[in-house]
Amino acid sequence: MNIDAVFVDRDGTIGGTGHFIHPKDFSPYSFSRDAIQMLKDDSIKTFACMNQHRISKGEATLADFYKEFQSYGFDDAFICPHGSDGDCHCHKPKN
Ligand SMILES: [Zn+2]
Repeated sequence: MNIDAVFVDRDGTIGGTGHFIHPKDFSPYSFSRDAIQMLKDDSIKTFACMNQHRISKGEATLADFYKEFQSYGFDDAFICPHGSDGDCHCHKPKN
């Protein structure tokens, strides 16, 4: 099987507790950076994806998260900063 890309969530997937933690306080699991590097070593694009409604409340910025994901080695990140009741096109999953 040839895998071109993987999409990975943040909270409870690469670290943290499954709940909101500001990027400056977030710690990835001990294996997360190595796992991301292994994907990159196999030329698999790695993308972070997350819903983060706290951005819409001003508790963090998109830039905070992009900078964080970049520091872990992700190629790019797809972040929905809106509330789940918003009418946006970037919330996952799209209903
Ligand atoms: Zn959105």
